[in-house]
Amino acid sequence: MFECQVCKNNQAREKLVDEVFKIDGKHALVENIPAKVCGRCGEAVFSSETTEKIRQMLHGTAKPLQSIHMNVFDFN
Ligand SMILES: [Zn+2]
Repeated sequence: MFECQVCKNNQAREKLVDEVFKIDGKHALVENIPAKVCGRCGEAVFSSETTEKIRQMLHGTAKPLQSIHMNVFDFN
């Protein structure tokens, strides 16, 4: 059963989300990741299978679809 790690809400919707990961100082954007998204705070939770697949994708030989330039801001 779903329980949000942030707000402990237990209602979630299945959704495809985009998420930026930082691996060895390099950012990678992965689009259309299946996730459970908390109905209250919007926190996205990935299954362990999904997390593992992303990890393999980013560390392995998978070729990205494209490279984009990204504006990065530091809030401080
Ligand atoms: Zn939540």
